[in-house]
Amino acid sequence: MRRREFLGGITCLSGLSLAKTAGLRLDQLTSSTASLAGMTMLESLRKIRELGFGGAEIITFSGQKHSLGPLAGVVKADMSKQEADKLLSEVKRLGHVSTHLPFHGLRPANQDRAARKSTLDLLHRAIDDSGFLGARVATVHAAPEPNMTYEQIWPDLLAVFRELGDHAAKYKIRLAIETMAPNTVKQYLAMIREINHDFVGGCVDTGHTRWYRADIGIEDSERATARGAKRYNDILMEKVEGLGPKLFHFHFDDVRPADWREHRTLGTGLVDWERLLRHLAKVGYSGTFAVELEETPVVEALVKSRLFYQKVLREIM
Ligand SMILES: [Zn+2]
Repeated sequence: MRRREFLGGITCLSGLSLAKTAGLRLDQLTSSTASLAGMTMLESLRKIRELGFGGAEIITFSGQKHSLGPLAGVVKADMSKQEADKLLSEVKRLGHVSTHLPFHGLRPANQDRAARKSTLDLLHRAIDDSGFLGARVATVHAAPEPNMTYEQIWPDLLAVFRELGDHAAKYKIRLAIETMAPNTVKQYLAMIREINHDFVGGCVDTGHTRWYRADIGIEDSERATARGAKRYNDILMEKVEGLGPKLFHFHFDDVRPADWREHRTLGTGLVDWERLLRHLAKVGYSGTFAVELEETPVVEALVKSRLFYQKVLREIM
């Protein structure tokens, strides 16, 4: 199919976006601006809207890149009033807005008080910027401390996230701690349960289950087998089901069967989307799914991912 026909098809299909589909809606699917590496923030927000996504996840840090290139990010203090106004008018044209808080080199449970404070200051700034953007949910990471176990930093970690939750609550933003760290299902779920804060819950990244090696319990050589895929999806679902009402947000990406490389186009990997979406429809999940890809061509990967999500919704009706 030629490109114009392909995109034309999307516009036509998006007319169905508001119809309820088995408890899930097409507009719940948003895209991270990180899926459009190399674009400016305004370019990526416009493109995401043009492709029919229900909103965007906006990066609130600058100067970072991933495997496909530099990532545009929002740091309000670095913008002129005119730039900030222009950005906000573009953001207001989106449906759902979420943000990704900084994580590079951050150590929320650092035992050095001054160093911990600098991490917290950075996260507070990013939460303030998320408030400016009108975000309803913000993704954050619970990074480990070098040479320390989670047991050792546990009280500090819980205290830090309660404090961040208090700050986010001022803007009515829910903080969603992304799956990856801690890297056992038991510890990850215990952390969120014990933080016990109305504004702190979880963000399940469908590609990050590869980090839960002990839970999956297979050899690397078994990854590309049916058993490997089943174990992957079983552990993914343990996190989703275990979070229950604390399931605040998702990052959607697929996983390449051969090497479990994540951030692949939806529908091209081993993630059992039908199983996941059926469950979410059944429990009435009402949050958003931010597609987070590192695949080229970047626009086509997003288009394909959205069409795939739409197809699965139709199938599970
Ligand atoms: Zn993610």
